[in-house]
Amino acid sequence: MKNGIKRVLKRIIIAAGVLLSLFVLLVILLLIDNQRRIDERNEYYRLHKEEIEAQREAEFVALDFSVEDSSEELVVDTYQSGFSGKSLNVYDSAYLDMYFDYPSLEVNDVKRTLKANRKIPKAHKEIISYFIDRVYELYPQTDFRPFEFNLRTLEVVEVDKWDMSLTALNPYAYACYVRTENRIYLPQGKVFEPGGWDWQVIIHELSHALRTVDYDNNWGDWDDRFRYLISSYDNTNVIGEEALNSLFAVSLLEYNERDIAYQLQSNMVGVMLECMDNYSLADYPNHSYSYFLSKLDETNGNHNYASSIMKLLEAQRDDWEETRWNRPRSTYYPLYDYVCKMWLDKHALPDMDVSDLDELTASLLERVVYDVPEDYDIDTDEFYRYARTYYAEQFDAPEEK
Ligand SMILES: [Zn+2]
Repeated sequence: MKNGIKRVLKRIIIAAGVLLSLFVLLVILLLIDNQRRIDERNEYYRLHKEEIEAQREAEFVALDFSVEDSSEELVVDTYQSGFSGKSLNVYDSAYLDMYFDYPSLEVNDVKRTLKANRKIPKAHKEIISYFIDRVYELYPQTDFRPFEFNLRTLEVVEVDKWDMSLTALNPYAYACYVRTENRIYLPQGKVFEPGGWDWQVIIHELSHALRTVDYDNNWGDWDDRFRYLISSYDNTNVIGEEALNSLFAVSLLEYNERDIAYQLQSNMVGVMLECMDNYSLADYPNHSYSYFLSKLDETNGNHNYASSIMKLLEAQRDDWEETRWNRPRSTYYPLYDYVCKMWLDKHALPDMDVSDLDELTASLLERVVYDVPEDYDIDTDEFYRYARTYYAEQFDAPEEK
């Protein structure tokens, strides 16, 4: 009987593992053929604006979580051993010694591994070599062991559009890194040059490979894996992590690029980062997503609020992507207020009059809505309303001029 239960339990665990890996495949992001798609959507929105807005008021799918500071402590992930004790999930570079028995690597060690890999075409090796140099130059504290580990077996595979959409499970996918296969899929015959959207795409995918590992120690045994910086069960937020990844990738470019993957979410997370003194992109390769949340809470004097704000950020993206939840504009006010509060905490000064305050709010909005598709239908007035309330509470009501 006991053995029967054990067998059933084992099957459940295997099924859960399979589901989880499918999910991972789904979520590992897929950059999108941006501009064309946005133009199409903007055009559609302009033609059907009134209908869409009426529908929004009439029927919508409510959020399935509440947006509030939780009394439950945010748990910052460290590491986790699997059921059998063979698997290891590491959520912070501080614990990488549990898997690697050698210290962090030098640039030449990493490049030697790149050179030895026969599955990466020469042109792509040059790009990866450039990527390694940039990361070392800008973020020398990055622990390169996970990336070097990936590089040993990493494959760069060129596929046609059809195969790409099957792999990425998204018809608009442009490239993707499938962590469970340790493969980067790219469009066939594409030449990558600095300056274009494609260049950002490949740097973005390499940034995923820099900080995430999903490796079978013993092929086919779901309970014998090494994983690094994957989302934990408690803190899964694909879009939040994609925004961080996009910002990290763009920071490696040698030119200023504001046209960025996950535009709205990256814009907002970019503002948050700028207003934080306790977290920067240098932390991104070495620490978990929950670590980022804990730093947001610390900055804002919250207990466990950032996780629900970031869920709201993700929900807004999904709402837009699916165009079927039709949530009212006010659903996203807490997110706008949050970003606005961080901006004002950093930049507001005593003795501002109304026009100074509006100007400050406008400079935030310019950042937030930069190149964002119109059908996000962002209520920009909320930013101004919130700023007045904030200011009156912090200082005094700003003077009218
Ligand atoms: Zn991505």
